Amino acid sequence: MTAQHLQHGPLDADGFRRAGHALIDWIADYRETIARREVAHLPPPGAIRALLPAHAPERGEPIAEILADLDKVVMQGIVHWQHPGWFAYFPANSSFESILGELASAGLGVQGMLWSTSPACTEVETHVLDWLVHALGLPDRFLSSGAGGGVLQDTASSAALVALVAARERATGFASDAHGLAKTARAITCYTSDQAHSSIEKAARLAGIGKEFLRLIPVDAKGAMRADLLEQEIARDRALGHLPAFVSATIGTTGVNGIDPVDDIARICRAHGVWLHVDAAMSGTAALCEEFRFVSAGAAQADSWCFNPHKWMPVNFDCDVLWIADRAELVRALSVLPEYLRNSATESGKVIDYRDWQIPLGRRFRALKLWFVLRSFGLGGLRALVREHVEMAQDLAERVRGHARLDLVVEPPLNLVCIAHKDGDDATQRLIDAVNRDGRFFVSHCRFHGRLVLRVSIGALATTREHVAAFTDTLLLEASRA
Ligand code: PLP
Repeated sequence: MTAQHLQHGPLDADGFRRAGHALIDWIADYRETIARREVAHLPPPGAIRALLPAHAPERGEPIAEILADLDKVVMQGIVHWQHPGWFAYFPANSSFESILGELASAGLGVQGMLWSTSPACTEVETHVLDWLVHALGLPDRFLSSGAGGGVLQDTASSAALVALVAARERATGFASDAHGLAKTARAITCYTSDQAHSSIEKAARLAGIGKEFLRLIPVDAKGAMRADLLEQEIARDRALGHLPAFVSATIGTTGVNGIDPVDDIARICRAHGVWLHVDAAMSGTAALCEEFRFVSAGAAQADSWCFNPHKWMPVNFDCDVLWIADRAELVRALSVLPEYLRNSATESGKVIDYRDWQIPLGRRFRALKLWFVLRSFGLGGLRALVREHVEMAQDLAERVRGHARLDLVVEPPLNLVCIAHKDGDDATQRLIDAVNRDGRFFVSHCRFHGRLVLRVSIGALATTREHVAAFTDTLLLEASRA
């Protein structure tokens, strides 16, 4: 980046304007040419630090030099998640529209912990999350006009943790908040599938449940939780005198996109008075399309439901939506009101103070980027994206089905295609290595029912049919050689 005209020292508004334009140009150039880069080329460990001075500068440096180091230093260690050949892990779409919303949020620099510390920060969020209830066909109980409502969390991990804390408090009649778990006579137990994301285990550990009391329920051949085994496990725990408190169902497991039977799980939760949380991190976005509403089945029975616009919906990280059916339980579990936060708006009971819906006190105007994306893409534009990604994934699956040396490990319900080589794990590993060595694509792996799996997650904004076709040709050719 050449920006010699940029000022040295703390920027004034004009300096910021010039530096900002230069940075926006740099981002636009990066995105325009990203397809020419190798998706993931890792430098040796420590190589990036070796490019940095040992100490922070004593005197301020020109902003132009800092911007130039984005190329000289930072770009030497970047994995290109926005690349059209990004098929690893999950999409982490950072659209230009969401970047603008993020920039507006940083520019305003407000803290929205209370309604009164920036009313727009709270009200835009509440309103946009109500829009999303309708857009995803979720139940009215998640609307802010009733007992429930939505809140933005940083991640699905935080959403699971706050839901679990509310569930714990409900199960103990708020005694664990007051006296700690040491005074709880019965052990609290939680349940999720053995394919659930690791964040559920982390939440159970952080909430004081303990890994020992998190039951990992086996899944069926498609990666969906076995509801019959869940029921047995809850009954066994009750017989042992434990206190079943929380089930986390997954819509779209990280490994193979398994879809838990939320309706059946909800029936069991209701029978046992257990909180039902749904983690629809990536796949929740598919509910934008009527034909994929199997991802929101059973939501009307859930106590909490979350998904990550920062994955498949093109909102840049971090942005998780958590809806809660009864906000009073969550607020009671998390609210602490020191004198300095008291204010008449809170006391009027007419406003939402989102600090009571999350772990930190402070919160930024995260809703702006969601608002920018929903308005600029429109629901129609977002649906078209989802449909295109699913179609591309289904086309890939069809070609894999027709290949003599490859297996589809599960029928892909949406945009994630899971493949194994018929000759076994070594051949699958060789296939993963060959595809990733190509440089135009990047895939990741998982293990499912003991078998090594090559995962192809299709959902990057830049990915087109041509990219998927080139990938498929390479994959099938390498499979014949592996
Ligand atoms: N849940 C599922 C099913 C996931 O696949 C992931 C993947 O990252 C997560 C949760 C974690 O999301 P976050 O990074 O928002 O905590």
